[in-house]
Amino acid sequence: MADEIQVNGECHCGKIEIKATVKLSEVRACHCTDCQQMSGAPLRAIAVAPAEKIKIKGIPKEYIKIGDSGNKRIQAFCSDCGTQLFATDMERRLYNLRTGFLEQKNQLVPRAHVFTQSSISWIKY
Ligand SMILES: [Zn+2]
Ligand SMILES: [Zn+2]
Repeated sequence: MADEIQVNGECHCGKIEIKATVKLSEVRACHCTDCQQMSGAPLRAIAVAPAEKIKIKGIPKEYIKIGDSGNKRIQAFCSDCGTQLFATDMERRLYNLRTGFLEQKNQLVPRAHVFTQSSISWIKY
């Protein structure tokens, strides 16, 4: 199976549409406390796309998260329905798409689990 696949999805209200090409080998699940809090879910799965392989229709709302290290990350979501869409660096080079709004989410199986030290106890992986 090819490593690269096309993905697409839209937010719950349909204001924002995103298409991208991602690598299956780079899909991961993040168990960090920021992902838990910001997603409202016990973990967050992401697929990675470089800037040249993502197309965004509509303008997401952005929140700049400052990490413990001082590192800044753009967190994008729909300002109307709140669907979480992606995170990216301040230079917008690499996009971490939230897999939950993508139609291909079943194919986007995490190859790695990160920040598992804060993983919720009932999650098995
Ligand atoms: Zn929306
Ligand atoms: Zn995280």
